[in-house]
Amino acid sequence: MSSLRHKNEVYNYIDEHSQDAVTYLRKLIKIDTHVPPGLNYPKLCRVMADRFNQYGCLCEIHEATEPYLEASGAETMGLDGPRSNIVATYKGTGGGPRLHLSAHIDTAPYDPEGWTVDPLEGKVTESNPYGKSPLDVGGGYVWGRGACDDKSMLVAMTMALETVHELGYKLRGDLILTGNCDEEIGGVAGLGYLIKEGLVKADLGIQLDGDVHKMGLAAQGRVRYRVKTYGKSYHGQMPILGVNAIEKMSNINVALTRHWREELLHRHKALHGIVLPEAIVEAGYDKLTAMLNIGTIKGGIQGATVPDLCEEEVLRCMLPGENEADVTAEITEVIESVKQSDPALKYSLDIINSREGYVQDPNHPFIQRSREIISDCLGVVPEFSGNLGSTDMNYQVNDGGQPCFTMGTGYAYTRYHQKDESVSIDDFLMNAKMLALIILYTLS
Ligand SMILES: [Zn+2]
Repeated sequence: MSSLRHKNEVYNYIDEHSQDAVTYLRKLIKIDTHVPPGLNYPKLCRVMADRFNQYGCLCEIHEATEPYLEASGAETMGLDGPRSNIVATYKGTGGGPRLHLSAHIDTAPYDPEGWTVDPLEGKVTESNPYGKSPLDVGGGYVWGRGACDDKSMLVAMTMALETVHELGYKLRGDLILTGNCDEEIGGVAGLGYLIKEGLVKADLGIQLDGDVHKMGLAAQGRVRYRVKTYGKSYHGQMPILGVNAIEKMSNINVALTRHWREELLHRHKALHGIVLPEAIVEAGYDKLTAMLNIGTIKGGIQGATVPDLCEEEVLRCMLPGENEADVTAEITEVIESVKQSDPALKYSLDIINSREGYVQDPNHPFIQRSREIISDCLGVVPEFSGNLGSTDMNYQVNDGGQPCFTMGTGYAYTRYHQKDESVSIDDFLMNAKMLALIILYTLS
């Protein structure tokens, strides 16, 4: 195929339809899908389905079933409304691989207090006081919760498909696009559900939830736990007659802290040809490293009462290769060790939810070829990156067996997960262009 001709056609089509792309992004931002609770997924899926139908896609909206809601920790997480996911299939003529593009329809939560723009308006400005995208050639910025993470990438993949369709290119392999829910809380009822239930099957994948100039190939997993300790309430001036649940939890926390600082921090997985974020490397960690965070603690009602209940949330970061069962057995052993000095310790340990880590081979031909296309578009070679935080890519890799990478519009100025989130218009248009070219190369 004449790749230069394709490149010119793709670039021209997307540039000519940039206004339409911005309008579509603003429409998606206006539908509030922050999680928890994650309301409005059905509404967002319907808007996306209307659009995909215009290109002749087969569209299905799948709602996660009860076991997935339970595994999400739906009740403790405060989830509400159906967990809807959209799967759009653009059928190929046959004989090619199936390529799966995934972006998430939920957003991080927000408090409008402190925002300088309406988080749901989708305001458009020429410049950005928080910084400038390296891809900014004057296209402006769109503002709002999810503007960058991840609604800009829902738009980028849609534009890529539209471009391929409208320019009349024929694909041999199927192109599968998913708008999956609940990514920000682990994706169990989102892409986890779609892939584990076999509703999406593909040979290659791209997770559209990453950073500008990077291709993400590795991430750590995590398990979230709820820990409770139980005591006996009594008058606080006679604590000798009560059992203090906060003291019990304190002993557990001393043990957990020693465990992660003295053991987990020495447990690594080396990455070859994959670079971790600067801040973590500067802190002395150039390999994926197991860690633990005691994230919340609450208990007691007042100083003059012995508390009979204390509870907290603990997050254990897992290395690729570690799994929920082994990690849970280990953490149980740490808590059990507290019984050596306190045989009467009463506690419970429950899993809220979990997702596994992953590492991809940088030398896989799909990843190498995609890197060449991205380099050609950007004029710089994107870094192969790893992250301690995770995305939905774990489901594509660990459950779907897809060779996969992340790409996206994230950058410091975009302030994703913070107040005043924005995205550079030139940036998500460039992502649409790169995606269209990767689709053409991979499937035609
Ligand atoms: Zn995201």
